[in-house]
Formats: sequence, C-alpha cells, structure tokens
Amino acid sequence: MAKVLIDKVTKSFGAVNVIRGVSVDIEDGQFVALVGPSGCGKSTLLRMVAGLEDITGGEIRIGDRVVNDLPPKKRDIAMVFQSYALYPHMTVASNMAFSLDLAKVDKAERDRKVNAAADMLGLTPLLDRYPRQLSGGQRQRVAMGRALVRAPAVFLFDEPLSNLDAKLRVQMRAELKELHQRVRTTTVYVTHDQVEAMTMADKIVVMRDGVIEQIGSPLELYDQPANLFVAGFIGSPS
Ligand code: ADP
Ligand code: MG
Repeated sequence: MAKVLIDKVTKSFGAVNVIRGVSVDIEDGQFVALVGPSGCGKSTLLRMVAGLEDITGGEIRIGDRVVNDLPPKKRDIAMVFQSYALYPHMTVASNMAFSLDLAKVDKAERDRKVNAAADMLGLTPLLDRYPRQLSGGQRQRVAMGRALVRAPAVFLFDEPLSNLDAKLRVQMRAELKELHQRVRTTTVYVTHDQVEAMTMADKIVVMRDGVIEQIGSPLELYDQPANLFVAGFIGSPS
C-alpha cells in the first residue's frame, strides 16, 4: 500500500493542454474513482501515474518517491485496462504467473501466489484453461489476477468493466469492491460510469476538460454537488 500524491499536474500534446493543473491526494488503501465525460483526460492522468505518459508539469509521488522520471516497472504499480490482452497460447495459470516468471520468482512461491490470487478471484477451476475457453468476465478476472499476483503498492484501473454486459458489470463491481476490502491496495479507478464510482469508491474525483470540478465522498457529491455539472453528472442514469 502507498499513498499517491498528484500535485498541480499538467499535460500538453503539442499545443493542446489536456490536463490543466490537477491535484489529488490519495491515501494509503483508499479506493478513488476518477470520473468525467469521455475526452476529459481521465486516461491521460492515469497513464501519467503509471509512467506510460510523460508529465508536462507538476509532480506525482507514489509512497515517498517522486516518480516523474521513473519508468513504469519501477513504480510499484499494476494497471488493468478495458481490453484484457491475455497471451492466447498460455494457460490461465501461466498468464497470471507471467510477471513473476520475468522477475525470476522461485516456483514454489510463484505457485503459492498464483493459487492465492486464483482463489480470491474464483479462478481456481480454470487455471489450466486457455483464454479462448473463457467468457469475457472470466478473462477480465484473469487480467485482474495478473495484477494481483504482483502485490503492487497501487492498482490502476482504466474502465476495466466497460466491455462486459450490464449484468456481469454489476456483479464484477461487487467482486472488485470485495477484493479491495480484502487486500486494501490503494486503487485509482477510471470510469465514465458514475453509478460504478458511487457504489465502489471511498472518494470520487470529478473531472471536466482537464480540470477537477469536485473531490468528495459519494455522499458529499450526492448531497452537496459543487455545481450544476457535478449535479448533472452524478444524477444522470448510466
Ligand atoms: P478520457 O480517458 O477521459 O476519455 P483521454 O485522457 O483519453 O480522455 O483524452 C483527453 C484528451 O487528450 C482528449 O481530447 C484526447 O483526444 C487527447 N489525447 C489523448 N491522448 C493523446 C495523444 N497521444 N495525442 C494527442 N491527443 C491526445
Ligand atoms: Mg479513457
């Protein structure tokens, strides 16, 4: 677990300023949802935390370290995307163990970690299957399993459920929240679905056009929206 501090961060692509001075304090173990309409800069901000995108201005800290110039591998994070790119020629177990194999973790420890993650995600009966033999929801669980086995200090999720059908999405929301309650890993969760954010997050960051409109608990945003934009966004059906 680690805190994440995003301090006056900006991002420009050429002359276009897509993140215009964003500051967020994320505490140890918190589940923070980053919400806002498509194109407001959620993924760009998350990718800067992950190290997949350079930071134009400001500072990002993970734990006690300024990570602005650290490559993704050195940031102690694991990221899960909407498109779960599993290795098609590897079993579920091998997909989950991949990063541990790269890190030359010994076999007993690797198996123990994979089994523990599989158990938490309900994947134990599926460990010998190949991705093509899995449903969409099962594949997304494997993608989460890959992140989980690494026991990173921070999980970064970018709309991980948006490819799933509505029923499964609701079920996976609950599972993810339960998982967070068990492992308490600091989580930054990007979604354009305010219901998802309201049901899962300790704290919600509402963005619009590269700036933050409001930060608060689900209840605070619901009871005291800072402006009409926040009220409209939180109040609209997903
Ligand atoms: P969101 O995830 O909230 O939908 P993004 O972070 O993907 O938004 O994008 C924010 C803005 O930055 C958009 O206007 C998008 O077109 C722009 N953008 C994102 N990535 C790039 C890039 N590599 N080059 C130029 N513009 C980009
Ligand atoms: Mg996005």
